[in-house]
Amino acid sequence: MTLLSVEDLHTTYKTGSRTVHAVDGVSLEVGPRETVGLVGESGCGKSTLGKTIMRLLDPSEGSITLDGTDIGRLDDRSMLPHRRKMQMVFQDPFASLNPRQTVFRLLDTPLKVHGMADPAERRRRVVDIAGRVGLAPDALERYPHEFSGGQRQRIGIARALILNPQLVVCDEPVSALDLSIQAQILNLLVDLKRDFGLAYLFISHDLSVVRYFVDRVLVMYLGRIVESADHVSLWRDPKHPYTRALLAAVPSRDPTRRASAALKGEISMAVQPGGCRFRARCPLAMDRCASEDPPLRRLSDKQMVACHLA
Ligand code: SF4
Ligand code: MG
Repeated sequence: MTLLSVEDLHTTYKTGSRTVHAVDGVSLEVGPRETVGLVGESGCGKSTLGKTIMRLLDPSEGSITLDGTDIGRLDDRSMLPHRRKMQMVFQDPFASLNPRQTVFRLLDTPLKVHGMADPAERRRRVVDIAGRVGLAPDALERYPHEFSGGQRQRIGIARALILNPQLVVCDEPVSALDLSIQAQILNLLVDLKRDFGLAYLFISHDLSVVRYFVDRVLVMYLGRIVESADHVSLWRDPKHPYTRALLAAVPSRDPTRRASAALKGEISMAVQPGGCRFRARCPLAMDRCASEDPPLRRLSDKQMVACHLA
């Protein structure tokens, strides 16, 4: 059974007079306890997709089925019982934590909202989760600004886990952290996944971050999934020219040398109508690519690709 199933999802928003199709017909699935990486350059719509799945943004079309219920159109009140099944960890933990609340209150409030009435029971739960994410016992009475970036992300993770969710959407959870701290937080996420039986949708612009622990990878380009592959196929035999370019850029840890080394030009939401949306940057583009939009086709039970050459 799938835990999350997204069908033909669209999310649009307006900037001035322009309508941006940030998510433009995405379908995906995440199984129980599965870790799915969602990768692509910044600006490709990954975060918008994550927030739409979380129902922090409204979809303009399509369905989002979580644990058997289509939550795509539910209002806030009807969403409440489903929220505890699905939580999010943000890139910037500081921006997502109320600075006026102690860590205890940050973790206690969701339990109250979701109907855990007994204060002693809530305290036990808060202390347990804080310990599981590696926060010291005295952390609970302190405020977010008193912590380092890595510690703050531990608080953000504790808050995501406090309601015992099945799915956690992690949006670039280590991108804002120092390199030395990144590995600690990634290892923590891997441990928590095992201990709590979590499924992750793990969003990252950096393939090297998802490389070591995802089961499957979805590659996103300009609002669409262009390749979907299991961990082994993606690294051994990537099919989409964009995936290859992203992979070619991985070994360098120097940010100025990454994607630019292999990719021409910048990602842009100004899609030329018709044809493949990667064609302006694709080294293999042919005439056909300008007129025919390649659908996401299944090549095997493990791999799907949207390219005329695949
Ligand atoms: Fe490149 Fe054409 Fe494939 Fe698009 S369809 S990725 S332009 S070869
Ligand atoms: Mg983002």
